Amino acid sequence: MPAVTAVAHPNLALVKYWGQRDLVRQLPLNDSISVNLSGATTTTTVQFDATLDEDEFELDGARPTEKASTRVSAHLEQIRALAGITAYARVWSHNSFPTGIGIASSASGFAALTLAGTRAAGLALDSRALSSLARLGSGSACRSIPHGFAEWRAGTGEESYAVQLAPPEHWDLQIVTVYFDPQPKAISSLEGHRAAPSSPFFEARLQQLGDTLATVRRAVLERDFSTLGMAVEREAISLHLIAMSSRVAEQPQLSGIYYWQPQTLALIHAVQRWRAEGLEVYFTLDAGPAVHLLCEAQNRAALLEAVGALLPTLGGRLLVSTPGMGARVVEEGEGEI
Ligand code: ADP
Repeated sequence: MPAVTAVAHPNLALVKYWGQRDLVRQLPLNDSISVNLSGATTTTTVQFDATLDEDEFELDGARPTEKASTRVSAHLEQIRALAGITAYARVWSHNSFPTGIGIASSASGFAALTLAGTRAAGLALDSRALSSLARLGSGSACRSIPHGFAEWRAGTGEESYAVQLAPPEHWDLQIVTVYFDPQPKAISSLEGHRAAPSSPFFEARLQQLGDTLATVRRAVLERDFSTLGMAVEREAISLHLIAMSSRVAEQPQLSGIYYWQPQTLALIHAVQRWRAEGLEVYFTLDAGPAVHLLCEAQNRAALLEAVGALLPTLGGRLLVSTPGMGARVVEEGEGEI
C-alpha cells in the first residue's frame, strides 16, 4: 500500500476547551476557537504493510514510550475499522518543536496521523470527517485539520468537529510563544478536564462562554485586534481560575491545579506594562507554563525586542508563528520510503 506523508500544525486556542461531556469519545462541554501555529510542524508518514506483526511507531528518530505507541495504535485501529483493512502500519513522525511541553504536539500529531493514515488506507475523507476522527486521537487535534482559524462545535450527540472560521491569509496576526524547559506536570490536561466541573465557578464560566465566543468570532472576522486581545486574555485567565479552584479526586493534598511557573507570572506582568507603555500585546495561556503573546504585524519587531530583553532572566525560548495552514498531504507514493 502507498506511503503517505502529511503535515499539520499545533493550534492555539483563543477560546479554550476545558471540561468534557464524554471522556472516551473526547466530546467537549463547550465550543472553542483556535488558530494554527505556522512556526511549529508535525510531519508524519504512514504505510500499511500486510507483512508486519504489529504497528511500528517512530517519533523523532526514536521509539517513543509505550503509552505514546499504544495511543497511536488505538488511532490506527479506528482507521483500519473505517477502511475495512487489517494490515498493521509503520508510522514515522517528526515534531519540529519540543514534544509534551504545552505547544500541543498531541494536536498536530493526531491531525497529521489522521490525514496520512486515512489516505494510506485508501480513504478520502472530507474535512469534517477528518476533524471528527482526529478528535478521537486527541480532542483539540480536530482544530488542526482546517486551514487558519477554526471553530470546534461541541455538538450534542456523537458528532463534534471543527470548521474553518477564516483562512490563514485573512489576518497576519503574530504569535510569539515563550516556552520553558519541561517541568514535570503534576496534573495532566486529561485530569484537568475531568476535575473542571468540581470548581464552584465552572457553571459561571460555561454561561459566560456564549458571549466570549461571539466576541472572539466577530473580532477574528473583523480583524479587530484590541477586542480580540482583551477577550482572549480574560478567557485564558478564566480557564486558570477554574483549574486553580478544581478538586482533583485522586490527589486530595492539592488545593487546586497550578499550571503557572514564576516566569508565567513575570510575563503576565510584562504584558500589562508593555500595553501601558503603548505596545499593544496580549497573552494567552494553555494548561502549562508557556505564554503565547499576540500582536499585530507592525509591532512584531518591538515585541521581539521587548521579550528578548527578558529572556536572559526568564530562561525561555521563542517560537514565532502566524496563522498556519491546516493538515495537508505532502507526499504520496508507492513502495518503501
Ligand atoms: P503537548 O500536546 O503539549 O505537546 P501532551 O503531553 O498533551 O503535550 O501530548 C504529548 C503526547 O502527544 C505524546 O506523549 C504523544 O503521546 C503524543 N504525540 C506527540 N507528538 C506526536 C506525533 N507526532 N505523533 C503521534 N503522537 C504524538
